[in-house]
Order: sequence, then structure tokens, then C-alpha cells
Amino acid sequence: MTDASSVLKTMKDEDVEYLDLRFVDPRGKLQHVTVIKDEIDEDFLAEGMMFDGSSIAGWKSIDKSDMKLMPDASSIYMDPFFAEKTLCVHCDVLEPDTNESYERDPRGTAKKAEEFLKTSGVGDNSFWGPEAEFFIFDDVKFSVEMNKVSYEVDAVDGAWNTDADYEMGNSGMRPGVKGGYFPLPPVDHMQDLRAEMLSTMKRIGMKVDKHHHEVASCQHELGLVFGSLCGQADNILKYKYVIQQVCSAYGKSATFMPKPIAGDNGTGMHVNQSIWKDGKPLFAGDQYADLSKEALWYIGGILKHAKALNAFTNPSTNSYKRLIPGFEAPVLLAYSARNRSASIRIPWSESPKAKRVETRFPDPSANPYLAFSALLMAGIDGIKNKIDPGEAADKDLYDLPPEELAGIPTVCGSLREALTSLEDDYEFLTAGDVFTRDQIEGYAELKWEEVYAFEHCPHPVEYKMYYNL
Ligand code: GLU
Ligand code: MG
Ligand code: MG
Repeated sequence: MTDASSVLKTMKDEDVEYLDLRFVDPRGKLQHVTVIKDEIDEDFLAEGMMFDGSSIAGWKSIDKSDMKLMPDASSIYMDPFFAEKTLCVHCDVLEPDTNESYERDPRGTAKKAEEFLKTSGVGDNSFWGPEAEFFIFDDVKFSVEMNKVSYEVDAVDGAWNTDADYEMGNSGMRPGVKGGYFPLPPVDHMQDLRAEMLSTMKRIGMKVDKHHHEVASCQHELGLVFGSLCGQADNILKYKYVIQQVCSAYGKSATFMPKPIAGDNGTGMHVNQSIWKDGKPLFAGDQYADLSKEALWYIGGILKHAKALNAFTNPSTNSYKRLIPGFEAPVLLAYSARNRSASIRIPWSESPKAKRVETRFPDPSANPYLAFSALLMAGIDGIKNKIDPGEAADKDLYDLPPEELAGIPTVCGSLREALTSLEDDYEFLTAGDVFTRDQIEGYAELKWEEVYAFEHCPHPVEYKMYYNL
């Protein structure tokens, strides 16, 4: 039962006071409006609710501001934090006059991508396992001194250890650089907080499996069980919401920015992907790493379009501070069954059902609906055009001699490069009208603003290098 009546039944059974309508903006931030129960009936759920779309960055101009939120009854969950009992529902954004999907609504894009997989004949379903990492810092003490370029991240869980910490004998239970993986508490200070996050996710109906400290000091990851493209994009938004809310309740903050600390691992969102067709896993076969030809072509598509994909999978200026050698983040556009330094890894899997490709360059500053849809479109393009991914790279790519390195393409080095690459390579995205030109242009406009904001601002490192010249 996933229609309006299930929403009304849940509201009655749970004695709900409010319905919270949630939708996502182009940057991937969840937005919401809260409606009292007296307003909610069959008609409301069938007709949706109007809102001012001109106030969302990257959407309509003020003279065409009216837009419609249409609740997706299959996405309901009880809010685990609000004082008043509130049921949440994720919404699609529609054009009010036609009731068609608004072309810049990322959730609409995700649904169109799922549909395109079927109509293209490539497969029936796709499965997605995103692994979003994050850092937890103490809300009050986090500071980055602007002109001395010293990080004083006095986080409760370990820290970026300053010399002062060591002098004060404060380092005993703190993991240092790359020291977080996997010591037991008390070195791992965040066991209980992560458990509370994971249990909260389970309570609101998310399928979760584990939580652990990550490699950097203060860095963590919780495990989501794989699911559908749109469902997992919804889940990433819930994941961030729960993590940030639980942190906030304890006077801490969680950040998903890709490289909060220089000199330690950054924050990735590896994306595991597979396609099924006629009830069978399309990626299992007898080629390299027990992959099928289709899986290799899918990889070929992602590698071919990677630089344009970066505009969606790595869409912040900070993303490119993570994509450097030495921190388990990829730089080279290569694939491998073993290697964490390759952009695409084939995780070892016992059963053909679990055969998947793990794209490692994405990070959680991405809008998950757009990032997953773009990855799928690149993969479909690969399969349709039988794009050969070349030879696998089963070496540590960080250590290759310069002459071997020279021939291997890389991910983008900046958001500027990613946006320029997208301008030159977007047609794989607009196949079947999954993405539209207008949408890509609107998105790029927003992201160019970020590029200019960053490029036009003097950086702390510049003070260090140039102030006294
Ligand atoms: N934090 C690493 C990254 O930036 C990944 C570590 C891992 O393999 O989980 O992608
Ligand atoms: Mg990880
Ligand atoms: Mg991974």
C-alpha cells in the first residue's frame, strides 16, 4: 500500500500532528515545509502543494515562481527528532499547469534515469551502494586560523594533533594522521554516537548494516544496504540528516566536505553499482575479475565521461583537494580488481549476485540524485556503444614511474575543469531527455558562482607563501 491512503493510515495510527514535505535543491540540500494534520486529506495528497520555487537557488525566476510539491507516498518515515509527532514524505517537484516533472528537479531526473535504463533495453533495475564518509568535530572549538594556516581542530574524537596537544600530554587516546582505522575505544571516542546514528536510521526504516571509524582522525562511516537509484539518493539525504542531527544534539557537528583537513585522508562517497536484466545480474561473467562484457563496457563509459561526471560527482571546489595521491582517493582514470588507487575498483564478491563496480572518485558534496543518474547514463552509454575500458591496472598507481603515468588520463584537477569538461561532453546525459540542456546550464551556473567565490578570495595558504615576500 503506497498510495495516499497509506499516508493517511500512518498519520492516524501514529497519532501524527504534522506532515513534513521534503524535497531536494540542485546542490543536494534537503528542504522542507511542515503542514498541520487538519490540512491533510486525499485531495491534498492527490493535488500536492504550491510553493515559491524562485526562492530555491538555481530554479525559477521571480516572475514564474509557482511550483508544486507532489508527495511520493512510498517514501514516508517518522521524523526521529521533532518534538511534535511528524511524518515525513519526499516530494517530486512539478510544473503547476501541466503536472509534469520540473526539469530541474533532481529527484525527477533520478526517476527518469531509472526509466531510461528500461527503455534503452540495457537492463530492468539498477542497484546502488553509496558509502558516504564524514568527519565529526566539536562544534565550539573547530577553528582554522586564517593567517597562520594552522589547523586547531580540537575535536573530541581524536584531533588534528597540534604540537601543543603533545606538549600538554593530550595525545594518548587520540589517533594521529591516518591512525583512526580501527582501534577499539577509548581511542575510538565515537562508538556510542555512531551506534545512535545507525539505530536511528534503522528506526526510520533505512536498511543499514554497520558503522566504523575511518582512516583519518575524527573520520567515520556507516553502512547502508544497497537499493534502487532514487531510493538510495533519498537515503543519502536521510543519512546526512540523521548524522548531523545526532551530532548537533551532543554539541558537535558533522561535515561531509571532501577534504576538511590537509595531510590526512579526505571524505569519499564511493558508489557501488550493478544492473540486473531478466532477473539475472548483468555484471557477472567470465571476463576480467569475473565481470561480464557489459560490466566492462559500463566501466568504459564511466572512464570515458569521467571528467564531465566530476561536475556532478565532485561538485565542490574542495572536492579536488581530496583527489590527490596518497590518501586512498583516486587520481588516475583506471580500473582494477584490487587497487584502491584506481578510479574504479571491482570489490571481491563470492556470489555473481553481488558482482558490482565501485566508482571511487565521487564524494558526498554531490547531489546524490544527479550523481547517481549521471553515473548510470555514462554506464548505459558505455554498454550501448561497447566502449572498451582498456587493460586493468593492477599495480599501486601512486607509485608508477613517470613514463607510465604520462599515458594515463586523470580525474579533473578543479571544479573549473569539471564544469568546462561538462560543457564539452553532456550528450550522454541528455539521451532520452533524462537530463536537459536547460537543467545542465542552470546547474553549471550555480557551480560557476562557487568557482568564482573561491578563486576571488585570498586563501590562508597564500598569506603563508606571499605575505612576507
Ligand atoms: N577516504 C578514502 C577516500 O577519500 C577512502 C577510504 C576507503 O577505502 O574507505 O576515498
Ligand atoms: Mg570508507
Ligand atoms: Mg569503498
